[in-house]
Amino acid sequence: MFYEDLSPYAYGDEGDAFSDLTDGMRFVSFQPDYERLNIGWLESGRPWTSGPAPEGFIGRLLAIVDAQQVNATLGLHECDLCPAPLPDSHPWYVPRAGNLRTSAGSGEIRVPGPHGTAFAAPHLIGHYVADHGYLPPQPFIDAVFAFDPHGLWPAKFPGVRFPWIPGDAALRHIDEE
Ligand SMILES: [Zn+2]
Repeated sequence: MFYEDLSPYAYGDEGDAFSDLTDGMRFVSFQPDYERLNIGWLESGRPWTSGPAPEGFIGRLLAIVDAQQVNATLGLHECDLCPAPLPDSHPWYVPRAGNLRTSAGSGEIRVPGPHGTAFAAPHLIGHYVADHGYLPPQPFIDAVFAFDPHGLWPAKFPGVRFPWIPGDAALRHIDEE
């Protein structure tokens, strides 16, 4: 699926759901009061920018990808920039030979941006940057350097590594649905 970088996020109106993986399958979902801006929704045949990443950027981005799981129920999303589809025999969570990151994923990340905005990127952005040389727009690069996904957020949500969770949001077990 393709969305232009920095366009408004419009993937349904379900709000954002952050999973908490510290104690079984729990999640907190809420209508965000930040504006969501798309980053890294690449698709073969659509334009995207490439270039050398600034020193340290890839490591910072991958730390966020590994820490967050947002809207994880939207299904598996496979990279179509890779030269061929993954063969059935290849587990989706194992990187291709020569790659740093798996070329399929589900879920998204949120990176706090300026002035009440958060960048909304697919988990696959780690693969796009590390293995395809995708260079996101500078405001996103700045936001990644400014964000610590292991910062001390309210203890109520120990596994939800994002600062802008409303105080009245409730953490729920998946089996309470
Ligand atoms: Zn790929």
